[in-house]
Amino acid sequence: MAATSHASIKPRDGVSTLVDRWPLLGQRRALVIYLCAIVALDLAAIVFFSSTTEFRWRDALTFAALMACGAVCIEATRRLGMPAGVSRDLLSAWWLPVALLLPPVYALFAPIILQVLLQVRVRATVLYRRVFSSAAIGLAGCTASVMFHWLVEDPWVLSRGSGPPIIYAVVAAVLFSLLNLALIAIAAHTADPDMTWREVLWNKENVLLDVVELCLGVTVSIGCGLNLALLLLALPPVVLLQRSLLHAQLQAAARTDAKTGLLNAAAWQREADTEIVRARRTGDALAVLIIDIDHFKRVNDAHGHLVGDQVLAGVAATLRSQLRDYDVVGRFGGEEFVVLLPGADVREARQVAERLRTRIGHMAIPADDTMIRVTISAGVALMSVHGDDLIDLLAAADLALYRAKELGRDRVCIPAVQPPPRSLPEDPS
Ligand code: GH3
Ligand code: MG
Ligand code: MG
Repeated sequence: MAATSHASIKPRDGVSTLVDRWPLLGQRRALVIYLCAIVALDLAAIVFFSSTTEFRWRDALTFAALMACGAVCIEATRRLGMPAGVSRDLLSAWWLPVALLLPPVYALFAPIILQVLLQVRVRATVLYRRVFSSAAIGLAGCTASVMFHWLVEDPWVLSRGSGPPIIYAVVAAVLFSLLNLALIAIAAHTADPDMTWREVLWNKENVLLDVVELCLGVTVSIGCGLNLALLLLALPPVVLLQRSLLHAQLQAAARTDAKTGLLNAAAWQREADTEIVRARRTGDALAVLIIDIDHFKRVNDAHGHLVGDQVLAGVAATLRSQLRDYDVVGRFGGEEFVVLLPGADVREARQVAERLRTRIGHMAIPADDTMIRVTISAGVALMSVHGDDLIDLLAAADLALYRAKELGRDRVCIPAVQPPPRSLPEDPS
């Protein structure tokens, strides 16, 4: 799930300092109510299960060993850092065994301990997100635990290797993943109702990771039930997987502009350079567009920077939805975007640019009881016509953009091409 900008109100004097201190207050009311309800449910479950669970040393020892493995995993990947926004880890490898082998109350406490460690040792993020994550994972784990204990009288039979308990464990792990996904998806959709359910629920990479977590969780549970010392054998591969997962996420984050989810300027230039080299080799057409939002400063002045950021994200989403997968779109900086269209000749480039201009002109972003509308100006440059490398193409597109602004904005311009110098008739003398 992608990081989302949840800002929905314009901070006013006095309110802004309160919102700075308590970012939860800056969110939509529906989101605040939902988050509080989930946390309250988690607290109620903790009180209920704590009072009905009989303490056993074996459970406490297993819980401590699994939490120690989680802590080692966190410490071993700490120096890599953590990408901003929503990121994935493999900590379920430790809290799934907690849910399967131990009484449900432990599944409620496990995410609290590991989220505190993440907050203190890895990255101090907005507190309400950590609290919500703990509650969501805790409730999902507790439900899976209740179901597994209901199906299997003695959860430790999991390690005897017979079929039914292992199948029930897989079913409980699937339930855990689905519940956790649902609780987070509802929060993401409440924060940004413009996101479709498909966007918040479906991500091929995440499904793959869920399957890996499930396999790890069930395997660690079986090993853990056989002998607690076997955790020492499970720990190194999980740490290694966790490190490579984080590394891949950090690499992706380094290429992405956090506000819009598009490529950042450096990553766009790298990809654009590759496309230009390819087009030069094959002789294919190629076009570069620079797009600038008109009078964007007025949006900020009238509605505040947070709303301005939502407009940037809206423009970026419209650009992405209107282009082909292999078009290269990036945020160049501020309110400027760049698009590279492989294979586009002058007619196609103009058509695409006009379509983007029309679609963005029809876009409306809700704010302060009004709808914000913006227009864009675009400059277009064509490979071989206006330049042969990225610098020349960007310079030509920028010039055309400047012309579009001069002519009144909300339009697309292409630089005029100088006709080739006519050859002089040869001097007969
Ligand atoms: P023009 O039609 O000539 O392009 O006018 P403009 O107001 O769009 O251009 P100008 O360069 O005067 O102002 C750009 C504004 O974009 C000023 C700056 O505060 C704002 N801006 C730049 N980056 C961001 C950002 O990340 N978020 C927000 N909210 N505003 C930004
Ligand atoms: Mg600008
Ligand atoms: Mg502008």
